[in-house]
Amino acid sequence: MNAPPDPGHRHLDGNALAGPLAELFALDLAAATITCAHCGSSGPLGAHHLYPDAPALVVRCPSCTEVVLRYASDSRGLRFEMTGTRLLTVAAPAE
Ligand SMILES: [Zn+2]
Repeated sequence: MNAPPDPGHRHLDGNALAGPLAELFALDLAAATITCAHCGSSGPLGAHHLYPDAPALVVRCPSCTEVVLRYASDSRGLRFEMTGTRLLTVAAPAE
């Protein structure tokens, strides 16, 4: 059995990710590409199927119909679940 890779000694606390994530969520995600964790197909967010009548907004893969992400906003806060997304790609803004 192989030992897990050594992540090294340098690490920061998770707060260091807040700035880079704010950069991601400030972008227009309509141009985002989603890679489905279930079947591996990729496509623009706009090509996915949105089901707005569930307790959360549910986005399903157009190829396999599995859930790729869910978003809910209510008195408990904002929740963004994307276990069905292998990769979310958004083009970097032009500088
Ligand atoms: Zn799929």
